[in-house]
Amino acid sequence: MRQTLIAGNWKLNGSKQSIIDLLAGITNGLNTGTSVSVAVCAPYIYIPLVESLVDDAHIAMGAQNVSEHAAGAYTGEVSATMLQEFSCRYCLVGHSERRSLYNESDADTAAKFKALQAEDITPILCVGETLEEREQGITQQVVATQLRAVIDTCGIKAISNAVIAYEPVWAIGTGRTATPEQAQAVHAAIRLLLATESEEVAQKVQILYGGSMNPSNASALLAMPDIDGGLIGGASLKADDFLAICQAA
Ligand code: PEP
Repeated sequence: MRQTLIAGNWKLNGSKQSIIDLLAGITNGLNTGTSVSVAVCAPYIYIPLVESLVDDAHIAMGAQNVSEHAAGAYTGEVSATMLQEFSCRYCLVGHSERRSLYNESDADTAAKFKALQAEDITPILCVGETLEEREQGITQQVVATQLRAVIDTCGIKAISNAVIAYEPVWAIGTGRTATPEQAQAVHAAIRLLLATESEEVAQKVQILYGGSMNPSNASALLAMPDIDGGLIGGASLKADDFLAICQAA
């Protein structure tokens, strides 16, 4: 039985005070008996603040990016070792905004994934197609190529210590959500692809859906058999909305 994970991606948002308020709201509203795992992925600079405000057992902390390098002359970068020092349990890799705005390739994503696992940080590997790719009917090939890059570099066993997030690019920040059936079809295809290499890994790995998930569509998406949680952007910035999604899970 896979545990449900609801992870917030705050992106480039927040201030010291707004994060204090947001985390107070989430902490106070979170049902302590919940079986749902909750995480928040903060901008680097606020990671020490978040570390001081959350208890990993209730709200785990994640980062949104990492360097593929361990140390050296890489101005502006942050390593997995540094994230580990501040108790980051998760880190996003391959988010479509990193792929499209910062030209991160499948190879870059795989290298970051590997760097995180070397420090026992769980990568949340984001995959997903653009609208054009969906209209061309190549969604599953696109997602398979993105996954293959990581499997070829790190091996299939590495996937069992990761989380996958299926995020159709056309649904991110647009208010347009994949229908539960559309999302389920891709989640099932991901699990089938993994099962061709390891049934055990395919059954174990959590596959989250991301793309305009909100309190009104979360229940239907999370009811799908292969959707094991959500990666939440916009709605993770409001405590009530984020809590409502956790509640739906
Ligand atoms: C995201 O950026 O990972 C995301 C899912 O954003 P939103 O929920 O705002 O679409």
